[in-house]
Amino acid sequence: MEKLNLESPYIRLLSETAAEENAHAYLIGGYVRDLLLKRDHKKDIDVVVEGSGIDFARAVAGRMGKEVKVHYFKNFGTAMIHHNEVEIEFVGARKESYRSDSRKPIVENGSIQEDQERRDFTINALAIRLHPFTGEITDPFNGIEDLNRKIIRTPLEPDKTYSDDPLRMMRAIRFASQLGFSIEKGSFEAICRNAERIKIVSAERITDELNKIILSEKPSVGFKLLFDSGLLAVIFPEMTALAGVEVIQGKAHKDNFLHTLQVLDNICKNTDDLWLRWSAILHDIAKPATKRFEKEHGWTFHGHEDKGARMVPAIFKRLKLPLNEKMKYVQKLVMLHLRPIVLSKETVTDSAVRRLLFEAGDDIDDLMTLCEADITSKNREKVKKYLANFEVVRQKLVELEEKDRLRNWQPPVTGTDIMETFGIAPGKEIGTIKTAIREAILDGEIPNTFDEAYAFMLNQGNALGLQPIKILKSSIQDTEKA
Ligand code: ATP
Repeated sequence: MEKLNLESPYIRLLSETAAEENAHAYLIGGYVRDLLLKRDHKKDIDVVVEGSGIDFARAVAGRMGKEVKVHYFKNFGTAMIHHNEVEIEFVGARKESYRSDSRKPIVENGSIQEDQERRDFTINALAIRLHPFTGEITDPFNGIEDLNRKIIRTPLEPDKTYSDDPLRMMRAIRFASQLGFSIEKGSFEAICRNAERIKIVSAERITDELNKIILSEKPSVGFKLLFDSGLLAVIFPEMTALAGVEVIQGKAHKDNFLHTLQVLDNICKNTDDLWLRWSAILHDIAKPATKRFEKEHGWTFHGHEDKGARMVPAIFKRLKLPLNEKMKYVQKLVMLHLRPIVLSKETVTDSAVRRLLFEAGDDIDDLMTLCEADITSKNREKVKKYLANFEVVRQKLVELEEKDRLRNWQPPVTGTDIMETFGIAPGKEIGTIKTAIREAILDGEIPNTFDEAYAFMLNQGNALGLQPIKILKSSIQDTEKA
């Protein structure tokens, strides 16, 4: 039997409490697994107690000091202590049995062995007794061997395990992607057979797992398993629709599913941000909906960036992703993802770069990261050329930003300035003049300063038959706007 040498003040405290209370308490689950894998998992400690987890939690908190509170979840018979960055969860050992129409099991008190049997995977069923604390690992299903062989396997019969709680199918794939493990053949076949049952799980819980896959080092591993098992078709059909290659008159387009996964893996080397990773997943999502074959040009996907951005809210809503500024950020990146590519293919004009800077605002760097990840050509020369051109775009962006300050642009002349100058009430002339000023700045006709914009505004007003009744002072305006 494998033994562990554990030096943690929390473990010592748990062990001392178990001794004092004469409790049959065990460390279990991810904490033990990650300890053996030497993965960082010190913040989340799961404790299972033969008897009452809540009573044991109370005893532990008592030894920690007055200020330590226990949070109870009486319905689940669990308790939690939050201390500094660490969360310790306590649960009474239990035995579970399931009905076919629900994820909610019938729960009874049980032994540690029965509790280990209800765990999802052999590698998550490892336990260490807290008293007497010998560091010995209780491993009834050969979880240590599976850890060494990098295998995900269920303790009991896989069909029953997945059918009882279909979320476990997502978890199997999540662990495969996070840990770089493979799912045992029989287990994977059971996932394929039970894929449809994922429908009884709430979108929030599915998406929690999906996001963990997306945050893993190489999410394509997880997505390919989701695809091959049939789960992706149920939870995220828009993504499955990207798969496949069509050939007409000898012309094929690329497999947009594989391309998307490559872009996703590429971007993961440069960012840990979940939403930038989501932008990579969704950047080509409207390709199936916009696909056309044109005799002269071959395959085209005109407007896929625009349609893709419009598809984002429905996808976010269904997956219960946040419908807030994160969604808008993803929409913006999907919408703009072709712009730097277009720029990098032609001679880069100041005006085009200015417009991009204006539209992307603070997200310009993320957009460039997405576009660089989007280069998946196998032709090394092409890749080199595109990357070099992106470098030109990046340099131009820096130069123009320094000169024109267009990131998060605010008009140098406001609507109020226009109304005061011409003595007019709100109306469509104001919008017309403001647009003309913005266009002149973006085209480089005038610099992004109050004086130049104000002079330009007076001319525009004139052209519309407006006469100034008052001239605003530039110095005051410039300091106000600085
Ligand atoms: P991570 O913290 O990386 O998510 P973890 O294994 O700690 O990994 P948790 O979701 O915190 O994952 O679950 C803790 C433990 O509870 C697991 O290790 C496993 O033993 C058990 N578990 C969690 N979810 C299930 C489930 N759906 N079915 C069976 N056992 C589960």
